[in-house]
This record gives sequence, C-alpha cells and structure tokens, in this order.
Amino acid sequence: MKAIVDHSLCEGHAKCMDKVPEVFEVREDDRSYIVLDEIPEELRARVGRAVQVCPRAAISLEE
Ligand code: SF4
Repeated sequence: MKAIVDHSLCEGHAKCMDKVPEVFEVREDDRSYIVLDEIPEELRARVGRAVQVCPRAAISLEE
C-alpha cells in the first residue's frame, strides 16, 4: 500500500505527522511528504487514522 498527499489540498496542519511520523513529514513549505514508499502492514491502521483526521481530505491510499 502507498499513501499519496495531494499538495493542492494540503495545508500543513501536520495531523498526519502526529499520527504516523514514520510515514508523513511536514516540511518548511507547509506540505506533507511521504517518507516511506511502501506502507508496512503494522502501520496501516495508523495511516488509516491519518486519512480520517486530515482536515483537508488530502491523503489517499493506493494498493
Ligand atoms: S493532515 Fe492533511 S492537510 Fe494536514 S499536513 Fe497532513 S496531509 Fe496536509
């Protein structure tokens, strides 16, 4: 599974990084970047929660 952040929606609230810092990194441009290409099984539930809490619905998942 891969996570994708739509940078046209992302506003850098960093709620994703709070949930899963192993996967999301908010940088100086106030956009969240994916730092782990393939999401391992053990992180999937937390990544799913990051999708739910993102106030801009900017995160999508791809199998
Ligand atoms: S929670 Fe959503 S809007 Fe905020 S930094 Fe993460 S992806 Fe961007």
